[in-house]
Amino acid sequence: MIKRVEINYRGIYQKTLARRIGSDLVLIASRLGKVAFSNGRYSDAPERDGIPCKYFVFVSPDLPEEELEAECGAKLDIDVADVSIVLDDTMVKGVEPWAWHGVRPINEKVSADGCLLVVTRREPTQLLAFIAAKPHPYRLATLEGDASLSGLWVFKDDLTHERVLGAVAAVDPGIVTIDAVADYLADEGREPRRAEAARTAHAATVQRIRPVAPDAGISWTYAIPELPAWDAFGEGVAVPGVERRSELGPGGQARNAGFPRGTTKTERPVVRFDLCTRCTLCWLECPDGCFDPTADEYYDVAYAYCTGCGKCAAVCPVKECIVMVDELRFEDTASPWAAYRRDPAAYLAWAEGKKGPERRSYAHITGTGVEVRPAPAVRARRTRKEVATR
Ligand code: SF4
Ligand code: SF4
Repeated sequence: MIKRVEINYRGIYQKTLARRIGSDLVLIASRLGKVAFSNGRYSDAPERDGIPCKYFVFVSPDLPEEELEAECGAKLDIDVADVSIVLDDTMVKGVEPWAWHGVRPINEKVSADGCLLVVTRREPTQLLAFIAAKPHPYRLATLEGDASLSGLWVFKDDLTHERVLGAVAAVDPGIVTIDAVADYLADEGREPRRAEAARTAHAATVQRIRPVAPDAGISWTYAIPELPAWDAFGEGVAVPGVERRSELGPGGQARNAGFPRGTTKTERPVVRFDLCTRCTLCWLECPDGCFDPTADEYYDVAYAYCTGCGKCAAVCPVKECIVMVDELRFEDTASPWAAYRRDPAAYLAWAEGKKGPERRSYAHITGTGVEVRPAPAVRARRTRKEVATR
């Protein structure tokens, strides 16, 4: 028997967290007398911030090491997962780890008796509003918490690591047990709070596992490419390439329509066009060329290409003009500028509704947790319509 775990994480920001969870599951399973190993897709240095990545863990109570390695080691992906961990709940919108794989449902690999385990503060019904329906039942468990984001090679020691280990024991004790997790975390002089965090998360997760009925969820709208099997390649060294679909944005930006990167972001920028001074900084500084100049010299946002890096919000000199907002508050990638042009007042109400009354900032490099503060007051500006008719 083989237990398969996949850890969905955001490239760079959660790389170290995912690797630690994977390697600790292997060590804990080994202490239980099982054979286990982990490997990762993009396990080198993913150069693209935020891109969905995967680590894998394989555990067997009865196979010898060579057989487990032969069965699971040479594959770039798995066919089914007993547990699929999601370290950032915005990935429930789909993951696009490889350009030519298309946007995939986050639960694509979860088996009929498997579990999708999501670190989130949302309710399961809110998550299922984005998750694809499956033809078979499975389980959905939530572990209360925020996306633990940090910098390359940096580990943010906010106990997410320990809490996820406890939650895995809750959803599938056939992989690791909570006693084994706690013993491991208590060893080697580690602080007692680490084992306590795992046990608390275990107890909470047991209460937050729910069955998902067949067909619960949404119809998946993204096309899934048909990929050739290894034995479908022709003889010789020429392998047909994937069609390049590069095109230029309205401002001359180089874009690959075959890989718009819509699944890369945890947050997206919301722009108050009425506050914009047309200083051009967002357009100049966006690393992905997502700001499209408009005929009236403002800057629209091509959300489908935005990676959510937050640089535009950091450089915009006008208070509250660009604010980064949780990606799960949005249903589509429609042009905000077009909406503003259609109905300025309605757009401003929409923008403020999305921004909400709080501003959250993540300490990406060091520190723990998320800083939450009230939104600063901004003097209301005239709408474009009012300016035009003045
Ligand atoms: S967050 Fe802003 S700067 Fe970063 S990719 Fe998106 S639009 Fe560009
Ligand atoms: S940086 Fe801010 S003020 Fe400047 S053009 Fe962009 S949105 Fe407008």
